[in-house]
Amino acid sequence: MMLSALREEVCAANVGLQRHGLVTLTWGNVSAIDRDSGRVVIKPSGVPYDQLTPASMVVLDLEGAVIDGTLSPSVDAPTHIRLYAAFPEIGGVAHTHSRYATAFAQACRELPCLGTTHADYFHGPVPLTRQLTRDEVDQQYEAATGNAIVECLEGTPALHMPGVLVPQHGPFTWGHTAEEALLHAVVLEEVAALAWHALALNSHPAGLPGHVLAKHHERKHGADAYYGQK
Ligand SMILES: [Zn+2]
Repeated sequence: MMLSALREEVCAANVGLQRHGLVTLTWGNVSAIDRDSGRVVIKPSGVPYDQLTPASMVVLDLEGAVIDGTLSPSVDAPTHIRLYAAFPEIGGVAHTHSRYATAFAQACRELPCLGTTHADYFHGPVPLTRQLTRDEVDQQYEAATGNAIVECLEGTPALHMPGVLVPQHGPFTWGHTAEEALLHAVVLEEVAALAWHALALNSHPAGLPGHVLAKHHERKHGADAYYGQK
């Protein structure tokens, strides 16, 4: 079977969406890319998470054609593929309709950076992508969603801001691997929940000062990072 290790990793990350409480029914998907072969491994469309197996994952080329697998891929595959094409440093993508992150997306609000938990993973407010035009929605909806995400990140390294909110839809996140894309989906949901509660207590919170934001991001991700074990 083609890419068996990557199939296992992608299957585990998709099951992880459910384990972490990020999905209702089958509303979420994770993929990963094998950069050597240019093949993308993604969840099959509409299959419940408890029925997923590594063998049921679908392998695509970068045009979206099925290379290996008997099931149809996630309908969001063109969005994932667009992100892989634009951001060579990423290896995994996750998409969910998780409750709090999607609430911000439906309210058409970026997710403000109100605390250090957020700053540890997302270098500033998690942005809201632009609305798609009628033509984009009619002709190439999922790829256009990916294009809008790429435009939104312009000038920002993808791993400094490993996620966005798509308006009236929900979050997309990414990382070095499928597992890290899942981790960022979990963190994004948690910081969205924290922001929701913080905004309920104070509708105009100060937001995290820029120097604290920089400190938290750099101690985990900068050239001189010191978080965790050596
Ligand atoms: Zn969706």
